[in-house]
Amino acid sequence: MKTIAILGSTGSIGTQTLEVVRSQQDLKVAALAVLGNITMLEQQIREFRPSLVCVYQEERAKELQQKVKDTGVRVVSGMEGLIECALVPEAETVVSAVVGMIGIRPVMEAIAAGKDIAFANKETLVTAGHLIMPLIKKHGVKLLPVDSEHSAIFQSLQGSAGYMQGETPNREIAKLILTASGGPFRGKKRSELAQVTVEDALRHPNWSMGKKITIDSATMVNKGLEVMEAKWLFDVPTEKIEVVIQPQSVIHSAVEFVDGGIIAQLGTPDMKLPIQYALYYPERRYLAGKRLSLSDIGSITFEKPDMAELPGLALAYEAMNTGGSMPVVFNAANEYAVAAFLKREIGFTQITDWIGEAMAAHKVIQNPSLEEILFAEQETYDRLREFGGKVR
Ligand code: MG
Repeated sequence: MKTIAILGSTGSIGTQTLEVVRSQQDLKVAALAVLGNITMLEQQIREFRPSLVCVYQEERAKELQQKVKDTGVRVVSGMEGLIECALVPEAETVVSAVVGMIGIRPVMEAIAAGKDIAFANKETLVTAGHLIMPLIKKHGVKLLPVDSEHSAIFQSLQGSAGYMQGETPNREIAKLILTASGGPFRGKKRSELAQVTVEDALRHPNWSMGKKITIDSATMVNKGLEVMEAKWLFDVPTEKIEVVIQPQSVIHSAVEFVDGGIIAQLGTPDMKLPIQYALYYPERRYLAGKRLSLSDIGSITFEKPDMAELPGLALAYEAMNTGGSMPVVFNAANEYAVAAFLKREIGFTQITDWIGEAMAAHKVIQNPSLEEILFAEQETYDRLREFGGKVR
């Protein structure tokens, strides 16, 4: 029996993780944490019977408490509650599937408590990778990627002798090849993008994902965050990470080794595969679903990313090369701007404009502590709030 805690159980990764739990006989859920969707959480409590749940929004937590009295589940709230779920004693693996930097503290606490992390919260690694990776090493736990590209790289690396995460540097890697679908606006000019609607941006051609990551895919910010995530996960310098557009989303990513051999992972775009692989690593298990037929696909095409029309990726490289607290500002500005876009307060191209503005205004802190990271995040929000007030 394997027992897990899921942080972010009502999101896209969270619900698909529960689908995996449903399909396996030897997976148990000890704790679930959500932001505020108590209707779905109540159903999950009744089906999966966790001993502990967290509703981040306190008022909603109180409301839920009344509804699930009969189940005996303990309901907690806020950051303290989220951390309690990450530390629930029965769970050996924590699935971190919250959106945004809110995941930093619970993930760090879970690692320190000796838990493996199935990791689907790239913002945490982007902003605090320099704090998290040494902790992983110190406590001898596994950080198992759930993001499809990073899972693909992780799976491809199993073909390298003695590959173990945290063991650095991996001398057999020549480069990581991170594939991208290019999102719904691939090939569009910036002038055309100013007018796109929230609905246009939420229409991803291949993957079904949460709202925030779907917008991030449309701006190419997501690929930028993934380059940073890969850098930390696999300890490979950014110049050895190549982004290639592969619009059909058949190749989920690849590794080129020093002998020139490339190993890639292919499949239908189904997040349940990386989720299940992370939960049972290194074992592979049966997963129901459509199989990839190469002869039906016929061809797979590749392109270089267009950095000028969709500047999300270029800004990410700039933040990475500056280092220190700059990736925090890149990420925080994006979180803030995407929320504003989803509320229809700003246009699509303003998302990356705001990221650029916030980065230009920031004074870099080298090797930021957790407090300094959270401060840089808040400072970015405050700056954009001011900035937003001025432009409107
Ligand atoms: Mg991805």
